[in-house]
Amino acid sequence: MSLSTEQLAEIEEQRGQTAPTRRAVSEGLEERLFTAHPVLDHGFVRVIDYMGDDAAICQAARVSYGKGTKSVQNDEGLIRYLMRHWHSTPFEMCEIKLHVKLPVFVARQWIRHRTANVNEYSARYSILDREFYIPAPEHVAAQSEINNQGRGDALQGEEAARVLDMLKSDSMRCYDNYEAMISQDGQQGLARELARMNLPANVYTQWYWKVDLHNLFHFLRLRADAHAQYEIRVYAETMCNIVADWVPFAYKAFEDYRLGAASLSAQMVNCVQRMLRGEEVSQENSGLSAREWREFETIVRGN
Ligand SMILES: Cc1cc2nc3c(=O)[nH]c(=O)nc-3n(C[C@H](O)[C@H](O)[C@H](O)COP(=O)(O)OP(=O)(O)OC[C@H]3O[C@@H](n4cnc5c(N)ncnc54)[C@H](O)[C@@H]3O)c2cc1C
Repeated sequence: MSLSTEQLAEIEEQRGQTAPTRRAVSEGLEERLFTAHPVLDHGFVRVIDYMGDDAAICQAARVSYGKGTKSVQNDEGLIRYLMRHWHSTPFEMCEIKLHVKLPVFVARQWIRHRTANVNEYSARYSILDREFYIPAPEHVAAQSEINNQGRGDALQGEEAARVLDMLKSDSMRCYDNYEAMISQDGQQGLARELARMNLPANVYTQWYWKVDLHNLFHFLRLRADAHAQYEIRVYAETMCNIVADWVPFAYKAFEDYRLGAASLSAQMVNCVQRMLRGEEVSQENSGLSAREWREFETIVRGN
């Protein structure tokens, strides 16, 4: 995470200011406000602002006049009920605004989540920093042999060194040329909006990203999952920790009913019922394809 002394001072100054408010306050999130939580080699996630807390979800669900809290226990029970039964709109009443610094290839995956509001750093207006994501050696991995959309074992020795060297030298060379093209020393200088096309997808960008809690959970369900690419998953995991401090009841319900939950098809439910009756169920008599059966076994047997 490369924040300048001035940027760190700005953050500290913001953190030093408090104002009395009648609005809902989440103590856990107040602690985290504005702090940059490091992700990857130069990235971060910072909470800029938020609206609502666990009680606000209950307040909306009950359409109540006051704070809506009958008791803390009632609130937790209600939140768990809402999550379990996909009653999602009360979760949309909470919002969070994040400042995220991330490599462009991660941003491309992230931006597919259309239910957020985004404002990105303008590389037409400003000059991008010389910051590129270079994976740690344990993440420089080979193409997976079983999953076309994934990675296998980490590359070793000379091969790993050669790949890392190519990643670093290509990044630096492209940036040198970017700088040379926009330079106005003795030349007119290429427009920034054009020169940036020379930069590789591991260059860092930044954005403000605002989303409601329901859609954030949807994002986290997909991107904190083991199937998501490591480089976006680490952002999602950082955000999970933030959300756990912001709305602890809602986050626990999300962990239990979404993140750690599994969904079974009608045929899979039938298999479970037959197994519970003591029947010998195999892929051949299950009505499931070989792939479905593997997924089913992973869920019910944990292997
Ligand atoms: C492991 C993984 C692998 C992936 N691989 C690929 C890939 O190979 N290629 C690829 O192109 N993408 C890929 N994606 C991206 C994926 O297909 C989705 O685009 C992305 O996860 C965003 O999901 P979403 O549309 O549900 O989210 P959001 O855009 O946040 O939408 C949330 C929900 O709102 C609703 N919604 C939003 N906008 C619309 C709309 N215009 N019309 C109808 N309903 C809408 C839908 O119900 C949607 O589920 C991958 C994602 C993951 C997690």
